[in-house]
Amino acid sequence: MALDIQVAMGDSVSAFRRGMACGGHPCGGLIGRMTTLPMVLDPATLTVAFVLLAAVLGTLLIFSWTLNRRLKAMAWWGSAFWLIGIGIGAANLGKAPPSYMVLLLANAAGILSYGALYVGCRIFNDRPGIILPGGAGVAIWVAAFSFIYDSQGYRLILASLLTGGYAALSAWELWRHAVQALASQRVAVVLLLGLAVFNLLRGLLGISLTSVPWIDSFGRRWSPEMALFLVVIGPTLAFMFLSMAKERLKFEYKQAALVDDLTGIPNRRAFLQAAARLLDRLHDRPAGCLLFDLDNFKAINDCHGHSAGDHILRVFARTLTDNLPKGTFGRLGGEEFAAILPIGAKDAAGIAEKIRHAFAEAGKAALATSGEVTVSIGCATVSRTMAEDLLRRADRALYRAKESGRNIVVVV
Ligand code: GH3
Ligand code: MG
Ligand code: MG
Repeated sequence: MALDIQVAMGDSVSAFRRGMACGGHPCGGLIGRMTTLPMVLDPATLTVAFVLLAAVLGTLLIFSWTLNRRLKAMAWWGSAFWLIGIGIGAANLGKAPPSYMVLLLANAAGILSYGALYVGCRIFNDRPGIILPGGAGVAIWVAAFSFIYDSQGYRLILASLLTGGYAALSAWELWRHAVQALASQRVAVVLLLGLAVFNLLRGLLGISLTSVPWIDSFGRRWSPEMALFLVVIGPTLAFMFLSMAKERLKFEYKQAALVDDLTGIPNRRAFLQAAARLLDRLHDRPAGCLLFDLDNFKAINDCHGHSAGDHILRVFARTLTDNLPKGTFGRLGGEEFAAILPIGAKDAAGIAEKIRHAFAEAGKAALATSGEVTVSIGCATVSRTMAEDLLRRADRALYRAKESGRNIVVVV
């Protein structure tokens, strides 16, 4: 954020103190005189407010990580808030102008804070890379510092480029590599872009004219406006990070409630919901229901072991995924699966045959030792009915398939 700001900060604070000395108020107005004074944003107070706020927000984010250790990004973002608070505080709250070492380390903490922000975004998106992406900025700063120490302009430019670059990369990361489309993640992207523009602009304006007051103030100083901007953006960003975590957890719980753990395809509940939606949409048009039951599955478990049985269940789920549109099938439980499609009896039989053959091939390849694994399929085609009724009819067809010797399709 607003780093390398010690000289200007010293100026602002001493101006503030002069105000206090001559008039008892930073504006120079006398307390007690009945005049309307313009609002004064005192940089020193704002710095203290910023540091405290960063510490509180950092602690809250780290606390939310302790409640759910899987959300590691929260710990990184919490650390980022702490680091920026330490950096800004160390650079600006000392009485004397900061020494070489303070300047080096305070800015390093600030740049590392942006590195942690970026690493948090990568971790939130389940992407690898911590040391290099997070440490590159601070490494550049430390390596360059002895060469640019004498020039406040160069320090400003480098710090602004690194922090602005990290903020832009964080925005890009959350935008481009989002695992799910979370609403709060989009807002975080906008905030991070704002932060990137803010930092880069500060660097660019720092090299231009400084005789224009607002450019001077924005580019080179820890101005009240800058501090205020960061005080506003900090809580908003922290709030968005917390919302992202909440949205992510909600998404995962929903997934867990609707997805079969073993095979990764929709479970019974999700299948019945999808089936009800499809039947609603179809009105008078027919719906075809396919009910699958793996043959002699108990024997497969007994001969090859339970984990081989699990593997076969996953192979069958993959066969369904490869042959049916997404959202049209699911695992009802055990070795029973079902599918529902907007098709008539002939098409249903065709698709069922295709799946039966595909599974016979895939099942044979999946079993390490010789042996067969097959599926019996019952099909029912009805219009204007409920999902449960359709399943009941398909079950009758399946019963006949089992009676007929298994590994067969029966349509009713
Ligand atoms: P049929 O051809 O008549 O369907 O015979 P079957 O052996 O397939 O039917 P049965 O209902 O007797 O046995 C089903 C077996 O499926 C029993 C159960 O142990 C097994 N099973 C159910 N769920 C799982 C699972 O998640 N993993 C494994 N490995 N086996 C399962
Ligand atoms: Mg069964
Ligand atoms: Mg069976």
